[in-house]
Amino acid sequence: MLPSGSIFQPEEAPNRLLLHVCCGPCSTAPLRTLAERGCAVQIHYANANIAPREEYEHRRDTARAYAERVSVPFAEGAYEPERWAKAMANLPDGACTSSDGMTPPPERCRACYRLRFRESAAYAKRHGFDALGTTLSVSPYQYTDIIREELERACEEAGIRAFFEDYSPLYPETVSMSKEAELYRQDYCGCLPSKAEADRGRAFRARERAAKKAARAAAQEAEEAALEERRREQAAYDAKQAKKRAIKDALRHERIRGTEEVCIRGTEE
Ligand code: SF4
Repeated sequence: MLPSGSIFQPEEAPNRLLLHVCCGPCSTAPLRTLAERGCAVQIHYANANIAPREEYEHRRDTARAYAERVSVPFAEGAYEPERWAKAMANLPDGACTSSDGMTPPPERCRACYRLRFRESAAYAKRHGFDALGTTLSVSPYQYTDIIREELERACEEAGIRAFFEDYSPLYPETVSMSKEAELYRQDYCGCLPSKAEADRGRAFRARERAAKKAARAAAQEAEEAALEERRREQAAYDAKQAKKRAIKDALRHERIRGTEEVCIRGTEE
């Protein structure tokens, strides 16, 4: 997760930047800061990793609608999920499987970044952009260092400048901007394995919350039972003391009555 208090340090922006964008929400604050620096940006939506197709189209349409709203040109890459699957198939065994059911494995994400950046870098080169950047670094759930490495690698291969910025300090701003703009916000990274991981993570956290709630309820129940037991003991003690007092009182009255009778008899005699 994002270290608290991280500060965004803007670089000197190129004149014409092709910005690889993964989704509408992640594009909000980066587009804002690039516009403030006078950078002419075009979005490239190259995300063959996103599945299923309806999800890909939903994210694309959200990103495009936002781009139109802020007057930023938008180009779509090729949606060829089979190309993404082929790139993943070349990974070593186990590289595609999350070990704890929540954290995506870095090898899979590295291959995924590489595929997308290569496509965007080639597009940037063909269309005469000064540099290629990416909004992937917004997310505190992504591998920022690997994003940088793969962006630089793809740009070097294509013969274009890599413009990497760590946008993760802007993440809270992307959340508020996208909420304000009522943009669709997805709940998994993009590929089907990441969907399964996110679902398992949510189920795991729900189980944890339920277990904590049950433990709190059990502790409260035990506390109430202990309190009830103390109340019962106190009541039994009070009753015993009352009985003792009653016996003492009865004896005292008996003694007083006996003394009075002796006195009366003595007077009569
Ligand atoms: S988790 Fe995200 S970055 Fe990693 S492989 Fe899947 S889609 Fe790509």
